[in-house]
Amino acid sequence: MSGTMRAYRLLKAGRMPEVVEVPIPEPGPGQVRLRMAGAGLCHSDLLVIHADPPFFPLPLTMGHEATGWIDAVGPGVEGLTLGDAYGVYFSWGCGSCRACVKGAENVCERAGLTPGFATGRDGGMADYFIVDDPRHLVPLGSLDPVEAAPLMCAGITVAHAVRRTAALLEPGSVALVIGVGGLGHLAVQVLKALTPATIIAIDRLPAKLAQATDLGADHVLLSGSDSAAEIRALTDGRGAALVLDFVGNDATLGLAAGTLAQGGRLEIVGVGGGMLPIRFHTMPRDASVGTPYAGTLDDLRVAVGLAQDGAVQSDVLRVGYAELAATYARLDAGEIKGRAVLVP
Ligand code: NAD
Ligand code: ZN
Repeated sequence: MSGTMRAYRLLKAGRMPEVVEVPIPEPGPGQVRLRMAGAGLCHSDLLVIHADPPFFPLPLTMGHEATGWIDAVGPGVEGLTLGDAYGVYFSWGCGSCRACVKGAENVCERAGLTPGFATGRDGGMADYFIVDDPRHLVPLGSLDPVEAAPLMCAGITVAHAVRRTAALLEPGSVALVIGVGGLGHLAVQVLKALTPATIIAIDRLPAKLAQATDLGADHVLLSGSDSAAEIRALTDGRGAALVLDFVGNDATLGLAAGTLAQGGRLEIVGVGGGMLPIRFHTMPRDASVGTPYAGTLDDLRVAVGLAQDGAVQSDVLRVGYAELAATYARLDAGEIKGRAVLVP
């Protein structure tokens, strides 16, 4: 197919991306072209947009959280039906190192050499986009492809962080969710579905807390100077066996370390730039800290499966190309409830 399409592209470091007309890309050997259904706006995009010098060679089409319908396949691709809906696993690895053969392409041993979706290669904020290999496609089945888009980054990342720590959560254990945004609102639901934990959610905006309650959080707290004491009181002084920090600044990391139970686990998911001093006596006894990055292909299948079962539902705000800049500004201010998703 020849012709042009819209793409939301980062053109110059330090400037907001722009909607530009570019040629519709042709799938090369082994590649697949999708017609975009939805592309989520992730808080991580703001780091990419504001990076100067840029993280990746420019120009670059944004959008690492995307779904679409099979539109064309390149030479050698078999077994896909035009028009079927798929989501994209975004953390493209080499496919052949020890990590990738296990499906853990998020920790590909050649990661620096294999540019990922919207992290080196053009992403999904375009009318059409290219996926480098069918192994990076997950079938959506009966899911609404727009509502499924947030699963592709927010969902997989949450599933990864929860699945690898779930053994710590017994009946009566507490899981603390810090930041009920795009990732956090899915985390409340994934914790509910996969673990018996009592869930405490904390945010600085009351609307996010109301949403957390609706989604199944057992207790919600407005962040403030008393947060640590409130969490201690809610956990009979024990603290939380798992803390998922979706902010990651100095304040939230301090809160996390101060409310973690002995033997507990802190997953620093948010890229807020905070620092946490770790040595004996700054952390509870036997505690551990992780920095999960995206997830494995299996984590994505679990996230999609939970959505197909109705256990997890993304709260989606649909926006058009013309609203992207204003929507990113709202995301920067923490004002987006759930996930904003670009629809063409
Ligand atoms: P978001 O803006 O949708 O959500 C952030 C939430 O945190 C908002 O509800 C906001 O009100 C709340 N918040 C902000 N400061 C707070 C504070 N001090 N105390 C309590 N709540 C506070 O962002 P998102 O898209 O959900 O992303 C969350 C973080 O995760 C970002 O830092 C993003 O870059 C990161 N991220 C990491 C990975 C990974 O692989 N590790 C993947 C995706 C996103
Ligand atoms: Zn993301």
